[in-house]
Amino acid sequence: MADNKQFVHLHLHTDYSLLDGAIKIGPLAKRAAELNMPAVAITDHGNLYGALSFYHKMRAEGVKPIIGIEAYISRGSRHEKGGGDLQPGEKATNHIVLLAKDLTGYHNLVKLSSFAYIEGFWRKPRIDRELLARHSEGLIGLSACISGVPPSLLLRDKFDEAARASLEFEEILGKGNYYLEIQEHGLDAQKRIRKPLLELSKKTGIPLVATNDSHYLMDTDVKAHDTLLCIGTGKTINDPDRLTYGSPNYYFRSADEMWQTFGEEPDLLHRTLEISEKCDVVFPKSIDQVPLYPVPDSHTIESYFEKVSWDGFEERLRDIWQSLQSFWFTASACVEIS
Ligand SMILES: [Zn+2]
Ligand SMILES: [Zn+2]
Repeated sequence: MADNKQFVHLHLHTDYSLLDGAIKIGPLAKRAAELNMPAVAITDHGNLYGALSFYHKMRAEGVKPIIGIEAYISRGSRHEKGGGDLQPGEKATNHIVLLAKDLTGYHNLVKLSSFAYIEGFWRKPRIDRELLARHSEGLIGLSACISGVPPSLLLRDKFDEAARASLEFEEILGKGNYYLEIQEHGLDAQKRIRKPLLELSKKTGIPLVATNDSHYLMDTDVKAHDTLLCIGTGKTINDPDRLTYGSPNYYFRSADEMWQTFGEEPDLLHRTLEISEKCDVVFPKSIDQVPLYPVPDSHTIESYFEKVSWDGFEERLRDIWQSLQSFWFTASACVEIS
């Protein structure tokens, strides 16, 4: 029966989850093939930077690529910048995982992530419910980690609000396109909401699915990932108050390990395959073509890119010198007056 014990990763951060994910796409594709995984998803924080490379490298290894993002979703409108009035434990920005079922879904992910940067950027690129509703076709949503909307409401003991929010997402994405995620990395918060999530699923009829919030490839990469987090947050390893994941289990776990963790509830694991079967993005050849940018005759596209980068650097350097000079002028004038 070992063959039935499969698992598809639907929640995974590559190194395009900048300074947070430490999984390189090439080695990931090889590892997924080695573990006989039928499919794997990419769900970087708020962006699709790795999508094309992921798509090609996974297919080259015979693993089906599932294209997604872990989007940031604002509590209110994406146009409002700032946290607003927050209750204790409440977050201004939550997470939601979105997976493309088809090419329409992929194009909607492109729109969502672009508008998140153009219109919704406040600390992070954020979408909101209105934008999601406008571009929801072809997408599957998952409730995300403990920073997702329903999980964070459950953590604040707001069961009814969590039910309302879950049903709202289900309505936006369409019935059968929204799932409640259960993660088990050994965190107290995850344990605390385990039972409430089961109850939430019973009450709303929204199915549960097991996920693994993968941030690094092998269990031995935990220290390297921890160091990466330090770089991302401007802390040192010796700082006791720095952000840590609080568990060494955020690696790309095998199906066996996921079955050891969730085996008592096989539906949660079977559902990862069910979702992966619903996702089938096939890119047309033309998607690899980048727009033609005219460059002067004396340049190739690469050499021109380097030239404009240096020109921009010089320009910024000039700005910095100018502001430093005016600072020195003001400072010396102050010394003379005093
Ligand atoms: Zn998350
Ligand atoms: Zn995540």
